[in-house]
Amino acid sequence: MADTTETDWVSRFADEVISEAERRAPGKPIVCASGLSPSGPIHLGNLREVTTPHLVADEIRRRGHDCVHLLSWDDYDRFRRVPTGIDPSWAEHIGKPLTSVPAPPGSPYASWAEHFKAPMIEALAELGVAYTGISQTEQYTAGTYREQILLAMRERERINAVLARYRTKETKEGKEAKEAKEAKEAADYYPYKPYCELCERDLTTVTAYDDDSTELAYTCECGFGETVRLAEHDRGKLVWKVDWPMRWAYEGVVFEPSGVDHHSPGSAWIVGGQIVGEVFGGERPIGPMYAFVGITGMAKMSSSKGDVPTPADALEIMEAPVLRWLYARRKPAQSFKIAFDQEIQRLYDEWDSLGRKVATETAQPAELAAYERAVRTSEGPLAATPRPVPYRTLASIVDITTGDDDQTLRILRDLDGELTSLDEARPRLDRAQRWIDTQVPADQRTRVRESPDTELLATLDEADRDSLRLLVDGLDEHWSLDGLTTLVYGVPKVQAGLVPDAKATPELKTAQRAFFALLYRLLVGNDTGPRLPTLLLAVGADRVRKLVGV
Ligand SMILES: [Zn+2]
Repeated sequence: MADTTETDWVSRFADEVISEAERRAPGKPIVCASGLSPSGPIHLGNLREVTTPHLVADEIRRRGHDCVHLLSWDDYDRFRRVPTGIDPSWAEHIGKPLTSVPAPPGSPYASWAEHFKAPMIEALAELGVAYTGISQTEQYTAGTYREQILLAMRERERINAVLARYRTKETKEGKEAKEAKEAKEAADYYPYKPYCELCERDLTTVTAYDDDSTELAYTCECGFGETVRLAEHDRGKLVWKVDWPMRWAYEGVVFEPSGVDHHSPGSAWIVGGQIVGEVFGGERPIGPMYAFVGITGMAKMSSSKGDVPTPADALEIMEAPVLRWLYARRKPAQSFKIAFDQEIQRLYDEWDSLGRKVATETAQPAELAAYERAVRTSEGPLAATPRPVPYRTLASIVDITTGDDDQTLRILRDLDGELTSLDEARPRLDRAQRWIDTQVPADQRTRVRESPDTELLATLDEADRDSLRLLVDGLDEHWSLDGLTTLVYGVPKVQAGLVPDAKATPELKTAQRAFFALLYRLLVGNDTGPRLPTLLLAVGADRVRKLVGV
């Protein structure tokens, strides 16, 4: 249990944020923030940038406070590189704002940024994340930050001095040269970067600026140059280390987490913490550093999708509450992995077991808190599967039936007599189907034999035949997951003359293993396979009888 939280981290941050907001801006809505750059497919790991403030904001709302979760789309950032799988001719757009780059070929969206925002917006809706989206392109091009930009330009020496504090110290020999370089840099330092009027790229250099007239001259690598009045100019942005603290102050952000990479000396978080107060008169938010989220066992995807696992990919194989739970149960500083491989079955076992604990009121407080945050938000419950069957059972069933609806329904009704249609097993059923179809390699799929293995059956001795008869005779009476579990473990006990609840001895375990291997060979032509009770249910009693030749 080392990887679960001892107490609920969300609640503790909510306490801290509420009291800090009360101190900074009493009576105003509390502001939590996230930022995402739609520079390419948004990695599943980056979901933590959104889920961390989401969970905290949701807890604050549950307590009756007015709270906004701002999601800043950093779509006015420059296009940095052409991802693999995209036409190399897109390189001509490097340096343009992401909203000015055409979407990848075949996309219905107007720009690169819109193309990569769309699936994330859809995933966040499915996850029940309520937020206010802000396009930085819209903000900058509408002149929303004009006063802040003019202020930053007036204060450029102060900003440069802050940046200088974090510049790494050089060796003695390099020191003089470095000081001379810094003095020159200080004179030339401008925190504002125009996008070129002619080529739209940011390959520009500001060559002069006059505080009184706000006249700004720049040249571009394309050969273009012009002088504009910054007080009227809406085609450029503050550099990142100034842009971020400017927005903390402008929006009054009280909570904003960030990734490990933002926390090194001289990084935007550290430098921004100085600039926000010294230049913009604001304060840095409460901002936990969140750890890396890894992915295990994701099958190779087509390169057009960029080989990057996204939240949408995870939501194809698991329900939204389960994905929420992964983020809710662990403190931001704890790293974890999201399983696309066989581990997903164990994850679902754990999730169902927690559900039972919650239903019987035996869950620990932290477990209960994480569960509650997973299944509902302050706006209401998330979509749930009305009659949930264990994921590993569903996976085995759809594996064996290859998705045949009638067969699937027949087997599910064997498990749950009250189930009237497949819809009651959805969406979990669809997630398991998708997992089998996309993540389980062909050589791990189960192929139930069409006809009995007569050769193998001919080699069986009397004890083997006896064990198969015991199994077949007990099928009807034990036709449930629990019943069949008792039956398959019990057959070797009966054969050994033991009572059904006898303790396992090494001899008994050997006999059980041999019996299971025999069943797998007869049913699926292999030494192993899905758990036997699930396999028996999925195959159906009639076909089991036929294949074991009794
Ligand atoms: Zn240019």
